[in-house]
Amino acid sequence: VEEQVNKYMDRVFQHMISRDPYEKEFHQAVRDLFVSIRPVLMRNTDYMKFNILERLVEPERLITFSIPWMDDKGTVQVNRGFRVQFNSALGPYKGGLRFHPSVNSSIVKFLGFEQTFKNALTNQPIGGGKGGSDFNPKGKSDAEIMRFCQSFMTELHKYIGPDTDVPAGDIGVGAKEIGYLFGQYKKLRGRYEAGVLTGKGLHYGGSIGRKEATGYGAIYFVNEMLKDMGETFQDKTMVVSGSGNVSIHTMEKAMEMGATVVACSDSNGYIYDENGIDLQTVKQLKEIEKRRIQDYVEYHPHAIYEENCSHIWKVPCNIAMPCATQNEIDEEEAKELVENEVMLVAEGANMPSTTAAVSVFLYHDVAFAPAKAVNAGGVAVSALEMGQNSSRIAWSFEQVDEKLQEIMKDIYRNCVDSAKKYHKPGNLIVGANIAGFTKVADTMIDLGVV
Ligand code: GLU
Repeated sequence: VEEQVNKYMDRVFQHMISRDPYEKEFHQAVRDLFVSIRPVLMRNTDYMKFNILERLVEPERLITFSIPWMDDKGTVQVNRGFRVQFNSALGPYKGGLRFHPSVNSSIVKFLGFEQTFKNALTNQPIGGGKGGSDFNPKGKSDAEIMRFCQSFMTELHKYIGPDTDVPAGDIGVGAKEIGYLFGQYKKLRGRYEAGVLTGKGLHYGGSIGRKEATGYGAIYFVNEMLKDMGETFQDKTMVVSGSGNVSIHTMEKAMEMGATVVACSDSNGYIYDENGIDLQTVKQLKEIEKRRIQDYVEYHPHAIYEENCSHIWKVPCNIAMPCATQNEIDEEEAKELVENEVMLVAEGANMPSTTAAVSVFLYHDVAFAPAKAVNAGGVAVSALEMGQNSSRIAWSFEQVDEKLQEIMKDIYRNCVDSAKKYHKPGNLIVGANIAGFTKVADTMIDLGVV
């Protein structure tokens, strides 16, 4: 059987590469999953019989469209839009929209692929999807962002709906963009379908606690890891890259639990504050004034700014949480963290560590937790938002937060148990991949070849 499985996996992988040879981030995500699930295919040959792998790496639907919009000078611009509807075995496609110049088919496909297994881990009834555009919101006026979102939705609305596909935010898409997108969807449909998007404002169907969910959930997850190690956040030094929604709420909950976060970053550089980052200043700069993290030193002159965001990983810390973007930690940065005796690395962003970086952490016995488990709290609360929308109720923060804590604990347990079952105790990467994969794959088998 071993030889048969190896041949099968190899064939599917090579075929995927030959179809889309340039999608390197997508190949990376698929390769990392395949490595983990090999023993599962060995134990159950049905996955091969029903050709589950080939069906999983081919998105059910990939929509590409143009987004023409007029800037404030009256010039007509055109961006490219994407929605990948990856897998709907467990529920309507669910996943964020990313507005960033780096967005292309490889990026949305890797994100949609990861999302499918992440969403399965949450135990909520949601399939996997992702989308976005190469539009760069940086430096754009509010009016430009609104016109762009309206044009984006003019095309996207044909493919989404509360029981079909439910987008949300990701990098470059927050409550403001979701508002403009929802307004346009509502106008085009002529119906108030609140459940078509999540991450909405609280006055029109948004869930309290959604904004905090990814970061808080990540810390709840890490807290479970620490408990098993006989540790707590108390007196731990942390580095949290990024300064967007995930990073800010990761820092907030970590500080509340007693950790000292000494560094955070944006795409230009990072700040180091030995007294601990002042989160109010970061929120003011990044969420309200839309300025650079560099300006932190204006308010805290003793802090240090360095204009190279990847050097943040040179800062010694007990716990490192990459919360910026994909592949922000490569082999070199991983080695630096290990040299400085990092004890735990948990991914808040999607796929922030390269394959080589992960190998370094595992080789040196650093406790490591992968994105699809750590950051699943965001999409989990999105699913709770969908539930509130369809029953036309709104829960309290305490209710949402309690459910989030339960979900993160369950994900952790599930990862630990799955890793143990396949003789890789403590390996949360293997655990998360196997738990997510088996849930999706077993459901696909139940639903037949469709
Ligand atoms: N973009 C987030 C993620 O990577 C959230 C998606 C959602 O809430 O649908 O999981």
